[in-house]
Amino acid sequence: MTPLPLAGSAPTRARFSFEVFPARSGAAALALGHAVQHLSAARPDFISVTYGANGSNRDASLDLLKYLRGRTDALPLAHLTTVGESREKVRGTIHAIMDAGVHDFLALRGDPPRGSGEDDPAVSGSLSSLELVELIAEARAERPPLTSVGRTAVAVYPNGHPLSRSRSADVDWLVAKQEAGAQLAITQLFFRAEEYLGFVDDARAAGLRIPVLPGLMPVSTSGQLRKVASLAGRPAPVELEREMEAAGGFAPELGVEHTVGLARELLAGGAPSIHLYTFNRHEQVLAVLRELRLLTPDPVAV
Ligand code: FAD
Repeated sequence: MTPLPLAGSAPTRARFSFEVFPARSGAAALALGHAVQHLSAARPDFISVTYGANGSNRDASLDLLKYLRGRTDALPLAHLTTVGESREKVRGTIHAIMDAGVHDFLALRGDPPRGSGEDDPAVSGSLSSLELVELIAEARAERPPLTSVGRTAVAVYPNGHPLSRSRSADVDWLVAKQEAGAQLAITQLFFRAEEYLGFVDDARAAGLRIPVLPGLMPVSTSGQLRKVASLAGRPAPVELEREMEAAGGFAPELGVEHTVGLARELLAGGAPSIHLYTFNRHEQVLAVLRELRLLTPDPVAV
């Protein structure tokens, strides 16, 4: 993985990475294959692949990681959750992912399954994300020398996680994940630069040294805008919402425009790189990167 500069260090050319999720049908898999070829041609630092909590799409995630590893030039990064799975099951999954030649992970706890809550013993008894960071390091040490490479990322919530008691609890928990061995953090979606920049400032003051990649998604529809708002824990900007509605609820160019403006502010504020949630499409995220002049060469133009 290309080393990422820390926020605030000397400016180099900004970098980027992508997130995709396993396809849910044969037709979607064909479209996804096409999209990841375009995404890979843009030469991202990595492409991350989501994982269904409770191991619900373990095989599909692994298949997509293998596809990225074997059929593209991109470096795959595997999301992994612990909720509802035993330590030994998780250890087995880590090794299966490494057996597929994928050594970079995003260590997550995951959400409780629908219909159950935090007090469900299967949820409260799961490894925490911090314990998963440690387990990944342990599993790496079990590998033959020279294959025990790779980096571990963790998730972070600039506007707070629903389980969080306070901003300082979120910051302390992130610093604890760093101390457990995490080498980078990727944020939940958000709409405003100050939400990321303020959180990173507080975290740096508390001792955070690892890069924090802002997660951004160029939305195409009003439905996606609502979904991002619910993940971000903050309402969408009123103007963006109004313009999207005025366009009949479908306006990919508005999402691109908003993401470009946000990315410019974040990069100017010291963000080391941007992580783009692709929604399994290449057009909008590549339009964002093209506008930011981060595509060299442009995979669609060549
Ligand atoms: P944790 O790091 O364990 O905790 C989340 C928050 O809870 C912390 O920020 C903190 O505020 C609080 N907390 C928890 N434990 C403590 C503690 N001991 N002390 C103090 N505070 C504590 N879900 C999936 O199912 N699959 C995916 O592929 C996936 N990818 C994601 C990618 C990104 C970039 C992000 C941001 C989220 C992703 N999620 C995914 C969602 C994630 O699984 C949920 O948000 C889940 O509820 C929390 O997981 P976590 O690893 O961040 O949890």
